[in-house]
Amino acid sequence: MRNILVIRNILRISLVILAVTIVGCSQTGQPAVWWQGNTHTHSLWSDGDAAPEVVAEWYRSHGYQFLVISDHNTLQVGERFRGDPPVRLKTLEELQDRFNMAGVFLLIEGEELTDSYDGHPVHMNVINPGETIPAQGGNSLRQTIERNLEIARQTQAGSGQPGLIHFNHPNFGWGLTWEHLAAIQGTGFFEVFNGHPSVRNYGDDEHPGTEEMWDLALTHRLTGGSGDLASRLLYGVATDDAHHFLEFGPSKANPGRAWVMVRANELTERALIDAYRRGDFYGSSGVTLGDIRTSKRRLVIDIEAEEGVEYITRFIGTRQDGDTTGDAGEILFETNRNPAIYRFQGDELYVRAKVISSRPHPNPYAAGDVECAWIQPVRPGG
Ligand SMILES: [Zn+2]
Ligand SMILES: [Zn+2]
Repeated sequence: MRNILVIRNILRISLVILAVTIVGCSQTGQPAVWWQGNTHTHSLWSDGDAAPEVVAEWYRSHGYQFLVISDHNTLQVGERFRGDPPVRLKTLEELQDRFNMAGVFLLIEGEELTDSYDGHPVHMNVINPGETIPAQGGNSLRQTIERNLEIARQTQAGSGQPGLIHFNHPNFGWGLTWEHLAAIQGTGFFEVFNGHPSVRNYGDDEHPGTEEMWDLALTHRLTGGSGDLASRLLYGVATDDAHHFLEFGPSKANPGRAWVMVRANELTERALIDAYRRGDFYGSSGVTLGDIRTSKRRLVIDIEAEEGVEYITRFIGTRQDGDTTGDAGEILFETNRNPAIYRFQGDELYVRAKVISSRPHPNPYAAGDVECAWIQPVRPGG
């Protein structure tokens, strides 16, 4: 009898533990984990220097779980020959057959829709377009942006696949301004960091860098316009825009300069895209985070600290007090603690964060770069 009671109690405790575990899980029963990916890279299908299987293999063997090979104005479909003697390039379908493995690695279709107006490049990455989208042109820079974005959205939606569009390297050729990023309707995505050496992430004396553009655009988007505020956020992705897989060095657009970590319960296109749309991802050039959590009162960031490396976390945002809006993108708080914790004051339009490590990047975008992480903007109180 006593034994039965003991067994019953063990069962009861087990059920409680099981219930607690399930609460912490998603609908599929899988806990959400971070997946490392890159959504912007090139192959011989356009101006990359390596066959697409070399590209895919580089990422798979360097710890990534998903990859979008985004060649200029083309998908990897049909027959194309490159090289001397000419070799037929592998299609995405062939690459997916070879590389995709459930829960381990996922190749996703993508195109870098590439246009320009009067010397200003207009490049956007379309994930899962379903079919090749040609550049649309336009009579002004703004119209060129709008026409390409419109066709990209329509085509992507028509594909029936989960998809995403992000604006690329806004300062490349001084193509896009923060006003263009502010004008994107609905939730927007752009490259706050791109590893290609000629994209001018940090701006110059006359042009704001991409982080400053992010703050200007966010402030504008959240103070003007209509619709719910959460849908007006602008999210920043990090990519390497790799073109060069054969030679490595400062003048080369090499893989591995920056990537995203996306939190999802499974490695599927749907789960990853949903996470992007929730803003449940961060960009990284080497810093790894354990958790990012927001409550009504606080934004908490757990850093997976490495020995001998120091970390400073900067919380950046714009305050609004009644009718007046403060400086776009001021440093609201800075800490070297781990976890890094920001307590909302309640007057912030948004708060984003950047973790800056003391470790130099092994193959930096620019001389002197240290490894960082870019955390997405949140609104106080959710
Ligand atoms: Zn580009
Ligand atoms: Zn590119």
